[in-house]
Amino acid sequence: MELVFGLDVICRSTDMPMAVKGAVKKSNGVYYIYINNRLCEEEQALAVAHEIDHIVSGDLETDYSAAQVEKYNHYMEANKNE
Ligand SMILES: [Zn+2]
Repeated sequence: MELVFGLDVICRSTDMPMAVKGAVKKSNGVYYIYINNRLCEEEQALAVAHEIDHIVSGDLETDYSAAQVEKYNHYMEANKNE
């Protein structure tokens, strides 16, 4: 799939632990999104959107580890209504 802003994104669903909805990594200028195939269709779509959000936010270009970015983003999500 190619997004309007010209990024190459390869998306596949795969076996993952239940605690993980999705993951994203960058290799040779191509973004790979992995989605947990145990999620229902709707949750998979949400997980793809979430991972694309990481790409668009430039989370993969920072010096922070993916785990740190993940923690921060999910903290912000959990607290956005306060
Ligand atoms: Zn995330």
